[in-house]
Amino acid sequence: MALQEENELLTLYRDAVARFLDRHATPADLDRWREAGMVDRNFWNLAGEAGLLSPSVPEQYGGPGGDFRFELVVIEELGRRGLEGFGAPVHSGIVTGYINDYATEDQKRAWLPKIVSGEIVLGIAMTEPGAGSDLRGMRTRAVRDGKDYVIDGQKTFISNGQTADMIIVAAKTEGDRISLFVVETACVEGFTRGRNLHKMGREAQDTSELFFEGVRVPAGHLLGGEPGKGFGQLMAQLPQERVVIAAMGQAMMERALALTIDYTKERKAFGQAIFDFQNTQFKLAEARAQVAAGRAFLDSCVARHLDDKLDAVDGAMLKLWVTETAWKVIDDCFQLFGGYGYMDEYPISRIFRDARIDRIHGGTSEIMKTIIARSL
Ligand SMILES: Cc1cc2nc3c(=O)[nH]c(=O)nc-3n(C[C@H](O)[C@H](O)[C@H](O)COP(=O)(O)OP(=O)(O)OC[C@H]3O[C@@H](n4cnc5c(N)ncnc54)[C@H](O)[C@@H]3O)c2cc1C
Repeated sequence: MALQEENELLTLYRDAVARFLDRHATPADLDRWREAGMVDRNFWNLAGEAGLLSPSVPEQYGGPGGDFRFELVVIEELGRRGLEGFGAPVHSGIVTGYINDYATEDQKRAWLPKIVSGEIVLGIAMTEPGAGSDLRGMRTRAVRDGKDYVIDGQKTFISNGQTADMIIVAAKTEGDRISLFVVETACVEGFTRGRNLHKMGREAQDTSELFFEGVRVPAGHLLGGEPGKGFGQLMAQLPQERVVIAAMGQAMMERALALTIDYTKERKAFGQAIFDFQNTQFKLAEARAQVAAGRAFLDSCVARHLDDKLDAVDGAMLKLWVTETAWKVIDDCFQLFGGYGYMDEYPISRIFRDARIDRIHGGTSEIMKTIIARSL
């Protein structure tokens, strides 16, 4: 496909996504979802029907056959509207890849169309109460028993945890090596969801504890067919996960800057607009330069990823730089709102709270530095 055509296709897609969100995810809906701690389940189906879920799933599996840029369009349009709480980026940009890359042909034919339609919502469960950054410390186990594996353990902080119908669960198998299993939540016994955790931001996203007590899954649900491949599979998928998180951080800092330019031009002090103070202009000029640098870095990593050349170090550098920079930009913007910025009805206050997690989930900034340092 010619580049020009691709661009036109992306623009058409962006318009369709924007129209859908403006109609079905209004500020009133968002307030309701934040209050409820999750988006309406039906919204997932509507989003699926409108083509917002897993747009890079190939056509032979019921998807529209786009590429990663289509996922990014959805992330950006969510970020522009403060809809970071809708877990589509986790579902589409993070978890779908595990099914697409490691499930069998039959499984892909059975699952991917439902993943695209929103009939199946996805989650991924790596983190445990005693094992976050240090995944090798996980205690969840899967033991082979005849034609099945039996999973016992506990996970926490799992995004889409209350909603997910299908969860990729990381567990230790023979030789203490990590393996990934597909758990269809409605088809197993011994699986329970714990609390929908109360968070300081992204309240519309359900984040949960999960419990596995003798959960029996067919051996065919071990991704990749052989035990012990999980760590490698995680390492292969994590660079894309980090681009997804960086893209959301970038969208949030762009929104923060735009809101702050408008606000400082309207608000007055000492007989002039806040915008006219040299300090304001310098802060906003710095922010503008950081936003431009973030966009260029993100675009170059996306181009590498589309060529299959983005490695773990690239992904770590991007996530580290964009999320740390976004945090500084958003904090500077927040300051320029004065006391109003602290009020919940001002979107900057929500951006401030919603953005904080990006320096932690998907690997903390410190872990990103250890990955980068190993390459030096
Ligand atoms: C809102 C939210 C959503 C999440 N979604 C998911 C999800 O869907 N699936 C999932 O599996 N997990 C998810 N997580 C978990 C997230 O990925 C972990 O919280 C994160 O990886 C950090 O692990 P931890 O919280 O156990 O912190 P710890 O590992 O206990 O880290 C504590 C501190 O020690 C630092 N530290 C740790 N090791 C080192 C080191 N080697 N060198 C220097 N410093 C170090 C860390 O950087 C951090 O500052 C989510 C978390 C949150 C809060």
